[in-house]
Amino acid sequence: MTKPVVAIVGRPNVGKSTIFNRIVGERVSIVEDIPGVTRDRIYSSADWLTHEFNIIDTGGIDIGEEPFLDQIRHQAEIAMDEADVIILMTNGREGVTLADEHVARILYKTKKPIVLAVNKIDNPDMREMMYDFYSLGFGEPFPISGSHGLGLGDLLDEVAKHFPEDDEEQYGDDVIKFSLIGRPNVGKSSLVNAFLGDERVIVSDIAGTTRDAIDSPYEFDGQEYVIIDTAGMRKKGKVYETTEKYSVLRALRAIERSDVVLVVLNGEEGIQEQDKKIAGYAHEAGKAVIIVVNKWDAVEKDEKTMNHTTKVIREQFQYLDYAPIVFVSAKTKKRVHSLLPVVNRANENHSMRIQSSILNEVIADAVARNPAPTDKGRRLRIYYVTQVAIKPPTFVVFVNEPELMHFSYERFLENRIRETFDFEGTPIRLITRARG
Ligand code: GDP
Ligand code: GDP
Repeated sequence: MTKPVVAIVGRPNVGKSTIFNRIVGERVSIVEDIPGVTRDRIYSSADWLTHEFNIIDTGGIDIGEEPFLDQIRHQAEIAMDEADVIILMTNGREGVTLADEHVARILYKTKKPIVLAVNKIDNPDMREMMYDFYSLGFGEPFPISGSHGLGLGDLLDEVAKHFPEDDEEQYGDDVIKFSLIGRPNVGKSSLVNAFLGDERVIVSDIAGTTRDAIDSPYEFDGQEYVIIDTAGMRKKGKVYETTEKYSVLRALRAIERSDVVLVVLNGEEGIQEQDKKIAGYAHEAGKAVIIVVNKWDAVEKDEKTMNHTTKVIREQFQYLDYAPIVFVSAKTKKRVHSLLPVVNRANENHSMRIQSSILNEVIADAVARNPAPTDKGRRLRIYYVTQVAIKPPTFVVFVNEPELMHFSYERFLENRIRETFDFEGTPIRLITRARG
């Protein structure tokens, strides 16, 4: 299911990030616990009543040294490109300013629905201040207070009215959806072209969607694929395309819709902080992950280089120890064809189900070899394990006292599961619960 996207725009200090945080609530990102990976959130899933959506705080996307009015113009453009519904936020205490009018004029160009929010209306007697805002030309303004959490329900009701109708999944279950993510210039678009350039490829626009055709469906060897969000990689020559926050935003959106994520690195350069962040997002989202080292043609190498690079990647991306590493060149197309079988396998493993009986045998055997930990004389007892989900495979371990489960023991069990079953390419999750 493709969730609708809402973007908040407006000049600085009107309260965009305050409202964003209110709307997304307490969603804590696991990525932030991975060393070296931090982010200020500008994009998150959220829900309101029965609606699930994603929300962007465009105010968090800073675009270099640009003058103030240009910054907010680019933020508004990003919203117009990315969102299904736009919230234009203003400050009721200051009335309509020139900067508000500037943003409004940019938004007149879009056909997308705009909902006007007037923030900092902290109490009912301040409602008078709102009437001024009709002049912006977006109809009835919605009074809200980010500090007090007032008016958000009515605002979100209005936003949800404009969500696109088609929520059904665009592609069949047997279609493998994958995306290529990575820093600018690592060669993502070149790789897509290397995939799609061949005569065997069938590319067509997707019929019946309200969105732009941003995906590239194709078929190879009887298997259907969709490369997600290919259009996001095509350069439109906009200033913000190379900013880090914008590439993160694109990456997160592509990851969300994929089964398998290809994390593309530039083999010519060392691994950078941003590579780790981007890979962290794919891991956190629970997607199958493949590490692709591109531009391998440009690397001066001998017979040891590949092993050495593999070692460095394993050290730098420890949480991705399950991800296969493939060395390719989009330029010469060397080994580009070997990627698809790896994608197929990762996808299969990502949705693999293990029978409970076999699973419990494996766990019993593991416990016999390496007894469960004790703490102050109490020993962890594992009663049984069962797989509760796929994509990624998720197992619940029922025990006597969950506090006795140590991270290292969980890791041991995960490794035993991995050694027995082929989960290459996919994260697996273990959840420890007390037996009810
Ligand atoms: P942004 O730049 O648009 O993201 O604005 P922020 O969310 O950072 O808010 C700017 C300032 O306005 C902060 O000091 C907030 O505490 C304050 N603020 C946000 N919402 C409200 C509100 O509803 N009422 C009042 N009085 N202050 C608010
Ligand atoms: P993107 O920003 O990640 O989509 O990267 P592009 O596909 O636009 O590639 C960035 C630059 O790297 C371009 O100049 C490409 O020609 C070059 N490039 C891409 N793949 C390779 C490769 O495998 N080998 C070499 N030598 N250059 C490459």
